[in-house]
Amino acid sequence: MAATLTLRTPIRGLERLDRAGIVTTLRANFTDLGWETPCILAALDDAPLHFEALGQARLPTWSRGRVVLLGDAAWATSPFAGIGATLAVTGGYVLAGGSLPTLTRTPPSRPTNGACAP
Ligand SMILES: Cc1cc2nc3c(=O)[nH]c(=O)nc-3n(C[C@H](O)[C@H](O)[C@H](O)COP(=O)(O)OP(=O)(O)OC[C@H]3O[C@@H](n4cnc5c(N)ncnc54)[C@H](O)[C@@H]3O)c2cc1C
Repeated sequence: MAATLTLRTPIRGLERLDRAGIVTTLRANFTDLGWETPCILAALDDAPLHFEALGQARLPTWSRGRVVLLGDAAWATSPFAGIGATLAVTGGYVLAGGSLPTLTRTPPSRPTNGACAP
């Protein structure tokens, strides 16, 4: 069994707890959820465990001169959203299409026989 537990809390520094402290924290916060949760919490005694804190950097500006923050880092999305690649590509597309209008864009050449471009 593999399980992911996500805890949103104003308490900082939980990632610095030792294993016993982390397990105690998880059990205290997830104990009432039902379904498979009791089995997951019971397995915490000896299952491999990875626990880390997630944060968000808020920048006053996303560009300096010709240097621009792009990729999933430029979006306020959670790693659990499962849409980071989409956002990363969309950011590049929007930047190239809307924010750099002076670029000369040449459309890709298309086959004339109706076939799809390679
Ligand atoms: C397990 C997993 C599953 C995922 N599933 C999905 C999914 O189903 N759908 C989805 O949309 N997204 C998914 N994502 C998220 C998606 O992979 C990322 O959001 C996306 O790859 C971000 O693209 P990016 O170009 O911003 O950054 P990255 O793909 O992280 O590219 C950053 C690049 O910069 C390089 N780099 C870092 N530091 C330096 C440096 N100092 N100098 C030079 N190069 C450097 C890195 O090596 C890397 O190649 C998943 C991510 C993971 C981990």
